[in-house]
Amino acid sequence: MTTDEQGDQAFLKPENQGRWPEMTYGGALSFLRRRYTRDLSGVDVAVSGIPYDGAVTYRPGARLGPRAIRAAAVQLAELKAFPFGFDPFDTLSVVDYGDCFLDPHHPETIVESIESHIATILAAGAIPLSLGGDHFVTYPILRAIAKTHGTVALLHFDAHCDTWEDDGARFDHGSMFLRAAHEGLIDPARSCQVGIRTHNDSDHGFELLTAPWIHRHGIDATIAAIRERIGDSTVYLTFDIDCLDPAFAPGTGTPVAGGLSSAQALGILHGLAGLDIAGADVVEVAPAYDHAEITAIAGAAIAHDIICLLAANMGATGNLLGRQR
Ligand code: MN
Ligand code: MN
Repeated sequence: MTTDEQGDQAFLKPENQGRWPEMTYGGALSFLRRRYTRDLSGVDVAVSGIPYDGAVTYRPGARLGPRAIRAAAVQLAELKAFPFGFDPFDTLSVVDYGDCFLDPHHPETIVESIESHIATILAAGAIPLSLGGDHFVTYPILRAIAKTHGTVALLHFDAHCDTWEDDGARFDHGSMFLRAAHEGLIDPARSCQVGIRTHNDSDHGFELLTAPWIHRHGIDATIAAIRERIGDSTVYLTFDIDCLDPAFAPGTGTPVAGGLSSAQALGILHGLAGLDIAGADVVEVAPAYDHAEITAIAGAAIAHDIICLLAANMGATGNLLGRQR
């Protein structure tokens, strides 16, 4: 192997699959050292950042989430996936598509910019995996998803249900899923909200697997409930990092006590191979409140494991703990 075949895969690697050695502590920081490209031919998964946080209700800072998650992914880029035991890049063509360009000084352009960004990825036949940004970014993503796939199920990990009422127009990271339901982008009857520990007078037709219920019944029961609810539906998976307890995700805008551990969340994800995932995101990582990259490492692991689920769906085999039913 020559020195040209080691390090800086983000701009040196000529193809999207496989990997070669990197300095963990150096080199270009794409997500999982995937190649940075806007060429989506043959791409299965396009990872991109959506650095927008203009819709927060408390602490800002999630606009810096994509950068932090890419940096925190370096160790995950080195070994075969745990616990899956395969290299997802043997099976999947995954690229880092860069960041969605946004002009926060013209807020009226934000929804269209994000929707168009995701629509371009979908039009090329790739699955979008987005790194937020505050959770509002999932609303324009769902607009693009629904235009391609029709109404989808939503699998939503969060401390908050994000279904509070709004006027149909405001930029609010706590109301977009009720709006998405009203607009027919998602079907609450096939959707599931996981880790909830805030009150809303109505569930608006969603199934809630609250954090106290998960703590009482455990990972396997949670997996079973999700699989029963989603079934064969095409599903969009959105992971608000504040689903995790502040002990496991201090770096976020609206932390809530009593949440899931990283191990619980990853354990649940590992049981979801086979779901028909049309797209996914990891949002609300706000590095300014993080310590020792705790939150960014969790976000990177969740995004990495979502890629592994997609690889398993494409035929990757290994020690698939996640295939338990
Ligand atoms: Mn949320
Ligand atoms: Mn939340």
